[in-house]
Amino acid sequence: MEKIDCRSLLEAELSELCFNNGLSKFRGKQIFQWVQQKAIANWEEISNISHADKERISKFLYLRSGKLIREQKSKDGTRKYLFELGDGERIETVLMDYEKDNIRDRQTICISTQVGCPVGCAFCATGLEGFKRNLTVGEITGQVLDVLRMLKQEDSAFRITNVVFMGMGEPFLNYEAVLKAISILNSKNGQKIGMRRMTISTSGVVPKIIQLAKDNPQVGLAISLHSSQDELRDKLIPINRKYPLADLMTACHTYSQLTKRRVTFEYALHDENTNKTEAQGLVRLLQGMAAHVNLIPVNPVSGSKVRRPTKEKMLRFKKMLEEAKIAVSFREEKGIDIDAACGQLRQRLECEKA
Ligand code: SAH
Ligand code: SF4
Repeated sequence: MEKIDCRSLLEAELSELCFNNGLSKFRGKQIFQWVQQKAIANWEEISNISHADKERISKFLYLRSGKLIREQKSKDGTRKYLFELGDGERIETVLMDYEKDNIRDRQTICISTQVGCPVGCAFCATGLEGFKRNLTVGEITGQVLDVLRMLKQEDSAFRITNVVFMGMGEPFLNYEAVLKAISILNSKNGQKIGMRRMTISTSGVVPKIIQLAKDNPQVGLAISLHSSQDELRDKLIPINRKYPLADLMTACHTYSQLTKRRVTFEYALHDENTNKTEAQGLVRLLQGMAAHVNLIPVNPVSGSKVRRPTKEKMLRFKKMLEEAKIAVSFREEKGIDIDAACGQLRQRLECEKA
């Protein structure tokens, strides 16, 4: 019998599976709690299930943690982890601004959804490396569990309160797995992370924007916009050729009407997209929508020609948006000293390996 990854199952699925394998359904609930709430790394840690039952469980379920290859700590508190998966592929997970957020009682983790990414954005380290495969549900929830387990060893009260799907990969090209991982992370016997405290970031996979509004209207949505002009966006984010700005914005308007939620727009500032034409275009696109723009100075990555604008240019751009009454903020740069832009750590280690 092929074993199933216990980190990929909902509580009800675990109960059913236990029942079908001659155990009580209650065992499923217990296993779910140990795995998803207490973040155990092996069956031995379970204290309320008999040895005989654990033997049986290990015949149809497996429990595997990501292997930590490297951890980097930024001066600003951000921590970045490189994990190796069962097949040797590597992914990145970032815990943002750990110390500072501790004061605010908020801990945000940024997780990956794919190994590499097929979208291939011009400024993104992950995109420049191409696509390997989708992550499984267990590999997605596993990032939260592995980081939680490590941090709990430093501080037993440590909790993760917010999740952003902004690591490696395009979450909407691994839609089913991402939504299931979200349900698991939200479970009352698991991490109980509020739906509204989880945000999916997409480069603009239009059909999935509408589907998300129907499937899970509580989850937050962020759009990686980066340009208000199709000509430039086609170059920056190649998926724009398939889903151009008009279609993307129609989907966002529909999403915001259906969910009554504000949409976040990510805008990585670089030399080509930080000008008056772009600002005016952005104002037109966002008119009449509950929106918030996050400006992020682009993080230069090797292999990309994209360059960061001067501070004055960035501030002028921000001011143009403010004057048009667009809600806008500069997103603080997290972990710039540890290559925290997605895909960068992996990229550097690949170079070191070569
Ligand atoms: N694939 C999804 C989510 C992962 S990328 C998406 O593109 O939305 C998370 C965010 O980081 C996106 O907004 C992406 O555009 C941004 N990003 C990627 N590389 C960057 C870089 N070098 N500098 C600044 N932002 C970057
Ligand atoms: Fe993929 Fe997002 Fe990187 Fe674009 S920015 S290549 S969509 S991970």
